[in-house]
Amino acid sequence: MPSAALDTLRHVFGYDRFRGEQGQIVEHVTGGGDALVLMPTGGGKSLCYQLPALLRAGTAIVVSPLIALMQDQVEALRQLGVRAAFLNSSLDARSAAQVEQQLVDDGLDLLYVAPERLLTARFLALLERTQIALFAIDEAHCVSQWGHDFRPEYRQLTLLHERWPQVPRIALTATADAPTRREIVERLALEDARQFVSSFDRPNIRYNVAAKHNSRRQLLDFLEGHANASGIVYCLSRRKVEATAELLVEQGVNALPYHAGLDAATRATHQRRFLHEDGIVMVATIAFGMGIDKPDVRFVAHLDLPKSLEGYYQETGRAGRDGEASEAWLAYGLGDAVLLRKMIAEGEASEERKRLENAKLDALIGYCESTGCRRQSLLAYFGEAHGGGCGHCDNCLLPPRVWDATEAARKALSCAYRTGQRFGAAHLIDVLRGADNAKVRQFGHHTVSTYGIGSELDASRWRSVFRQLVAAGLLEADFDSFGALRLTQAATPLLRGEHQLHLREDPNKRERTRRRNDT
Ligand code: ADP
Ligand code: ZN
Repeated sequence: MPSAALDTLRHVFGYDRFRGEQGQIVEHVTGGGDALVLMPTGGGKSLCYQLPALLRAGTAIVVSPLIALMQDQVEALRQLGVRAAFLNSSLDARSAAQVEQQLVDDGLDLLYVAPERLLTARFLALLERTQIALFAIDEAHCVSQWGHDFRPEYRQLTLLHERWPQVPRIALTATADAPTRREIVERLALEDARQFVSSFDRPNIRYNVAAKHNSRRQLLDFLEGHANASGIVYCLSRRKVEATAELLVEQGVNALPYHAGLDAATRATHQRRFLHEDGIVMVATIAFGMGIDKPDVRFVAHLDLPKSLEGYYQETGRAGRDGEASEAWLAYGLGDAVLLRKMIAEGEASEERKRLENAKLDALIGYCESTGCRRQSLLAYFGEAHGGGCGHCDNCLLPPRVWDATEAARKALSCAYRTGQRFGAAHLIDVLRGADNAKVRQFGHHTVSTYGIGSELDASRWRSVFRQLVAAGLLEADFDSFGALRLTQAATPLLRGEHQLHLREDPNKRERTRRRNDT
């Protein structure tokens, strides 16, 4: 390692040694090479361009999509004595002009700039008069239209390479599934860049998936194990964010809501409090989180399914940046899968994109239903091999029992069929269990052949069966009649007796409690 890099690492940043591949990346970029850096959140990406920025002549231009993130980074750098500034819409004209002057006077080591600002003719003209040390493109996955952080301006960043081909570029992201990676390379013209791929394992995060039965109660139980800790609770909708935050406050939890429907001032206040106070639980939609650099987030809970495994990885990755033990917890039920499918089906996207979104959802549901090591399946999604048996996920700590559900599944499928494939799981379970209620009588379902044939299993076990049948693609929800379950082709071999089916046994309350106390 060139001693200049180590010297700067020690004297400017105060660290003894490089972490992971930082050293090689710094060397490569300082030497003028292009790089694509895939590193998990908290891995230390910033240093990979901040050090070369100091080692190379001129100013490093850092493209960053988030104003809050820029401000934090610039503040931290200034405290280290680095000449850093940012340009974005939060500056008034005078301050912006000052920064621009500093830039052309070669008075800056790093300039953080929002992509829309960077691409203006005015700023590009300024760059013509500047000695540019390198271009860093942070959160490079924003170039991907499949991801949830898509920024159309990122697509135009190839312009930097076209106008300044001799200036090295380093693109960085913590989102790294294969399709996204390919898209970054292609869209940013990084075919010749060296790729640095770190392990995405976050060994200090414990992964847990709970079968949803009473999500409010389950959340409160979960939070009991994390009293006074900072954490994030993700919900799908603004309304649910509000309701959940209220519930938590009623229960004495220091909770704040965050979603895009709140006014900017409230959002800023809540974010600031989360960052600077201890023990705040942020209840949020995915509008909250990107670029939030809080080291001691102890848990990330999901009350609703995220849209994909990469989203899940990103969101849970906000826990435990300080390396201390942290927990990722997800409550998942049949309704979640149905709702997300419906959102995809009814969305505006092209057929191609819908297929991709459905495939991503399949992978996520596969993760939820998996009986193997969660870490292994999560990492496999990012193309990373892990031997399994991590000893630090729910399935490793308490291996789920698997039962022969062939007979039960046949009953469930026949019941859906006999009642015309027009009903959701709740009603089908009533019919199977021989419930005597108004809806059953209204439709004459006490006279169908499947009435009462499933009384040997309780309702929660049946919910688990239906959920897993949908997850496995034997049943699908009909979105035109909300949540009605229909048989698919894949159900035929089972109904014909050609297939056996084994399903996971969701742990009951006693086991869940034991698991919580044991670990
Ligand atoms: P990322 O952007 O990949 O999420 P950061 O660049 O914010 O990660 O770094 C995460 C944390 O690790 C920061 O607190 C940073 O100061 C620290 N860090 C980075 N590199 C090193 C290093 N070589 N030695 C010690 N701490 C480091
Ligand atoms: Zn495991």
